[in-house]
Amino acid sequence: MKLRIAHLYPDLLNLYGDIGNMTTLKKRCEWRDISVQIDPIYGNEKISFTDYDLVFLGGGSDREQLLVRDKLIKMKKELTAYVNDGGVLAAVCGGYQLLGSYYKLENETIEGLEILNIQTEVGKTRLISDVVIENEQFGTIVGFENHGGRTYINEHTPLGKVLYGSGNNGTDGNEGVIYKNVIATYLHGSLLPKNPKLADHIIKLMLEQRGLPSELKPLDDTIENNAHQYIIDRFVKK
Ligand code: GLN
Repeated sequence: MKLRIAHLYPDLLNLYGDIGNMTTLKKRCEWRDISVQIDPIYGNEKISFTDYDLVFLGGGSDREQLLVRDKLIKMKKELTAYVNDGGVLAAVCGGYQLLGSYYKLENETIEGLEILNIQTEVGKTRLISDVVIENEQFGTIVGFENHGGRTYINEHTPLGKVLYGSGNNGTDGNEGVIYKNVIATYLHGSLLPKNPKLADHIIKLMLEQRGLPSELKPLDDTIENNAHQYIIDRFVKK
């Protein structure tokens, strides 16, 4: 059995260690004898999303986001169908914004994939910070944000409530979106190395979608949990 991950456009969407999310998923699977194949997707090839157990989109600059949008908009129908059928999709920052209706910049508006009913508008300053959020299922999630866009998520469920940092827009206390099997967030860091519960949740979703047993052997997460706790101690518990 082999899980397959499509890592979309790592040449364009690759900020603040996003690649570490791939390494984390691969290692946490391999430590449990689950093999994983990661296919980096470049260029303009048509992607067969249904061949994959996870589609991952990292973050990027506005210019790179626009290039990626131009590629993905041609596959909007297929990616929407993948999500509607329960396909697992994880998206960070620029990738998260692209899942929405639009990303409005000063002089142009980047039309999005409309998978989520969210809208993003660029603000006057960049929101740059370490971040701590709280999610009912996974507890605290830590990461790092650096974005100009402010995202408003309407009726969507946030990934978490902000304990430290700005999150979606710096005003409503929401961070990210969790919708069907989509996890979308502003958190780089990279995200998954310091949040092993979230990493395992994604692995479980991948296994479940394949119809495979999703009980995961516990791992020794001492190092990961120490790195996680360091951020909480530094920014939340003062
Ligand atoms: N270009 C987007 C913004 O500045 C996303 C940045 C990112 O992915 N870190 O809002």
